Amino acid sequence: MTSPVDADFLLVGASEVVTCAGPLPAAGADQSRAGVIEGGALAAREGRIVWVGPEAETDRIRLIEGGRRLDVGGRAVLPGLVDTHTHLIWAGQRADEFERRLAGASYGEILAAGGGILRTVEATRAASLEELTAIALRQMDRLARFGVTAMEIKSGYGLETDTELRMLEAARQAARQRPYAVTTTFLGAHTLPREARGSAAAEEAYLKLVIDEMIPAVASRDLARFVDVFIDEHAFSVEQARRVLDAARNHGLGIKVHAGQLAVDGGAALAAEMGAISADHLEHLAPEAIEALARAGTVGVLLPGATLFLRSHDYADGRRMIDRGMAVAVATDLNPGSCPSESLPLMMQLACLYCGLSVDEAIVAATANAAAASGLDPITGSLESGKRCDLLVLDSPSRRDLLYRLGAPPIWRVLAAGRQVPGPATS
Ligand SMILES: [Zn+2]
Repeated sequence: MTSPVDADFLLVGASEVVTCAGPLPAAGADQSRAGVIEGGALAAREGRIVWVGPEAETDRIRLIEGGRRLDVGGRAVLPGLVDTHTHLIWAGQRADEFERRLAGASYGEILAAGGGILRTVEATRAASLEELTAIALRQMDRLARFGVTAMEIKSGYGLETDTELRMLEAARQAARQRPYAVTTTFLGAHTLPREARGSAAAEEAYLKLVIDEMIPAVASRDLARFVDVFIDEHAFSVEQARRVLDAARNHGLGIKVHAGQLAVDGGAALAAEMGAISADHLEHLAPEAIEALARAGTVGVLLPGATLFLRSHDYADGRRMIDRGMAVAVATDLNPGSCPSESLPLMMQLACLYCGLSVDEAIVAATANAAAASGLDPITGSLESGKRCDLLVLDSPSRRDLLYRLGAPPIWRVLAAGRQVPGPATS
């Protein structure tokens, strides 16, 4: 006789409960096992899961006074999705640039005409903390409409100390107003600001500002858990990135890198060598870097929406990464330039269609592995006792429909820490 479990929430009537529990994210683990319980059920208390198992065993759940029983009517239940790579706070608009790009303008031409990322930087610098917080809330809720209950948020559109700190503070303030699990990343080394372009001395001065002023300020105010660097011929070199990441580690912060988006650039190898929690993009990746990342336990984050939106054909080879023992995640890269989309399910579909993932690998990539890539795995990313009650209930009996229904995911309900989200619209 098993002992009863007290709960204030009991979910029944599921066709399948996809737990994503267990094997992850160890390198070499079987990422095709999504841990499906046919006819599963789940109980929670105060927003935390207290029991997961077959519905036939729910007689051991004791629903406390005022507790809620939710019958999902034969639908599939998954962990809430985790978006492990977003630049979701930005001010201003760039839709006109999209139109110009379609008419044939190159990114270089758009940048030269005052557009591109520097235009976003200008608008973000001009935005107040209240404005940035409102933007963060709106974007977070939009992600949630597509099933996301946990997310990573990067700075990187300030490129000077005050605005970088303000972006991170906005993320923190927004997170306090919602039940999502949120982690933040400092990305002062996103690109060079306008004032640091044109001379090696100015470039070096900016790098020093990031290392000597911004990172210490972020660490002392506890505004971010990670530091990220964009390694690219138009951004920062591997050696510059190493200096930034060294400073991050010296301040007790975790590290991430944007690597290999446009060419094999040594960023992935650096991520492995320095023990980064994730290496993101990886459209171009040397075979030895795959081995190194697998050995280091660094999660490879696929961002296929950026590949699509930039009309490139160089999708990251997720299949090869998994076959060589890397843990692979998938994320939106939500940002105004290369991927203005809040649909993580669309990115999962692209990961299946172009990066070689199976349905269950894509689900694991956007839940358990994504949580591991942002340090959120102790609290979310799988349906297990002790974790947050973060749920995505599909309007379908099969998890396969999440991947199959292109661009229009069948979502019935999303619960973050047991609360239905997004809440009432705030803007
Ligand atoms: Zn990015």
